Amino acid sequence: MTVQVGTTDGGMGKSASSAAAESLFAGPGEMRARGRAFAWAATPLGPVDGWPPALRAAVRLMLAAPVATSLWCGPEYTLLYNDAYRHILGVKHPLALGRSGDAAWDELWPGLEPQFAQVRSGGPSVYADEARLRMQRLDGGCVEDAWFTYSLSALTDDAGACLAVYNVAVDITERVRARDTVVSERARLFETFQRVPSFMSVVQGPDNVFVYANEAYYEFIGRRDVIGRPVWDAIPDARGQGFEALLDSVRDTGVAVTGRETPVRLVRVPGAESEERFMDFVYQALTDADGTRWGVMVYGTDVTDHVLARREVERLLAVSEREREDAEAARARTDAVLASIADAFYLLDREWRFTYVNDAAEPLLQTTRDRLLGRTLWEAFPGVIGSVFEGPYREAMATGHPTSAEAYFAPLSTWFDVQSYPWTGGLMVHFRDIGARKAAETERERLLADAQAARSEAETANRAKAEFLATMSHELRTPLNAIGGYAELMEMGIRGPVTPQQAEDLRRIQASQLHLLGLVNEVLNYARIETSTVRYDIADFPIGAVIASVEPLIAPQLATKGLAFAATSDDPAPVARADREKVRQVLLNLLSNAIKFTDAPGAVEMSCETAGDRVLVRVRDTGIGIAPEEFERVFEPFVQVNASLTRTHEGTGLGLAISRDLARGMGGDLTLESAPGQGSTFTLALPRA
Ligand code: ADP
Repeated sequence: MTVQVGTTDGGMGKSASSAAAESLFAGPGEMRARGRAFAWAATPLGPVDGWPPALRAAVRLMLAAPVATSLWCGPEYTLLYNDAYRHILGVKHPLALGRSGDAAWDELWPGLEPQFAQVRSGGPSVYADEARLRMQRLDGGCVEDAWFTYSLSALTDDAGACLAVYNVAVDITERVRARDTVVSERARLFETFQRVPSFMSVVQGPDNVFVYANEAYYEFIGRRDVIGRPVWDAIPDARGQGFEALLDSVRDTGVAVTGRETPVRLVRVPGAESEERFMDFVYQALTDADGTRWGVMVYGTDVTDHVLARREVERLLAVSEREREDAEAARARTDAVLASIADAFYLLDREWRFTYVNDAAEPLLQTTRDRLLGRTLWEAFPGVIGSVFEGPYREAMATGHPTSAEAYFAPLSTWFDVQSYPWTGGLMVHFRDIGARKAAETERERLLADAQAARSEAETANRAKAEFLATMSHELRTPLNAIGGYAELMEMGIRGPVTPQQAEDLRRIQASQLHLLGLVNEVLNYARIETSTVRYDIADFPIGAVIASVEPLIAPQLATKGLAFAATSDDPAPVARADREKVRQVLLNLLSNAIKFTDAPGAVEMSCETAGDRVLVRVRDTGIGIAPEEFERVFEPFVQVNASLTRTHEGTGLGLAISRDLARGMGGDLTLESAPGQGSTFTLALPRA
């Protein structure tokens, strides 16, 4: 290095001065050399040999310091500096040596002077960390930012006067620049991320303290303050979902982690329930230029809407699939139900088009389903228009009420019974071919007519028979009466004396005549009833009187058979409204039957009571009884139960038939209760007066 040495001489003795300088600045290095050669006498400091010892000691210390050190001496702040300080001065070196402060650091002086003044005047020392100074120390006098950490302290003499300001400076410009580059790169990065739609945040240090979060990140986690807070304090709701371990592992290992459609539950609105969000994300370790991992970046996208939308689509697809299956199942069920309907039917939509035709319908309609489906009823069966069926069809469709119609349908040559049931989709038409039924009905009507004809024929025949019987009986009675009359005449001896034997014969003739007459009379009675020629003489009468009147008539028969008899009656005696003679005739018949079919030691009872609007007269015996299956038959004409048995009893089998006809003819009835061996009870019911 070429050393420019100042030549100004302050007028002091050169030798003493230079000896002092030689001594003070003795040693290696440029600045010592310059110090030795410098014309200190021309500076406010004057020749070196005049410098106070303290200053000289400080100069030595300064020159020996390995860091940039300078001394700003006296009130002019005349500058001395060591080799290390040269770099701080840049192009200002070496001219700055021995210059005053304002000359050496002219561009900085306004800012620095107060600090120097403070120290110089006995105020506190200055320590500046990372002070930015805009200085012109580059070639060409360019202004640049430089950063220094420096101190200013006072060098005082024994009296406390400030000899100089001692300055130690560390140029940290490079470091700051390097750091600022990182910072500004980060800032640029963050700036970029601030606007991207993806979310991003950066956490730093072992506690994962948030140092950055972009707009989308705030959006994602729900607005809350996170910067400066450890991640799991700032977002406690995200804890316990596996992210802590992921984040730690990325920070510890530097290996990035990614997740796709990862669910995370977050409380995005304070106080609200946590909600599930989905994210695609990357945890990426952040390293400095020197490879130090200083944090982790979380970068990702909120894909909740996509996930939910896709899930919804999937759900809808599943639903529609299920619905399709359901619909198919329902359709299959419906088809099964429809198919199981044996009756023919078809469905019409509201436009009268066939939408369904079941199997049973095809043969009845004499066509196939395929020919009908899609066509309207009117197209398929024009014959319906104007037929009996059209009205009910239209009515059902219009009113929503079921209708029915039954008629001969000429186009298909048969009878149809058609039921139309409206439903939301149109009409369900249920129909039957009733041709066969109609034929059966016709047949039945014919048979009925035949039967009626037969019956009236039979009735006519019956009446003829009854009339015949009536006539015959009448005709028979006359000769019978004659037989009786003549037998009586002979018995009375009017025709001459009669031997006892003849008298006996005559009595037999008379008995037979009476018997025969009785029979003929019964036949006549029956015939009269049958031909409806009986006249009823209805009147109110106490039934007790009739009972009393028949008692004497049956007394001989009772005595003959050795049977007990009792008659009882309600009090007051019931009054009947009937034909008294006919009642008497019925009761006599019932009593004589009771006696006829009861053996000693039996009993016959008669009782009388009122029941509602009726008078009931009962004839009860303890005789042989009647089996229930015969109950109805005994009331039929000419029926005698167990004929062989009855042969021992006289009778025609007409008594009960006549009695019931008479009872009914008077508005009453004759009924029976009995059991074989248990006796019988006949009840004559008559209207009550
Ligand atoms: P009949 O002239 O034969 O008595 P009825 O019509 O009076 O004709 O009776 C018909 C039949 O009913 C009798 O032949 C007898 O078999 C049966 N019957 C009628 N009354 C009695 C009775 N009280 N006990 C048992 N059987 C009776």
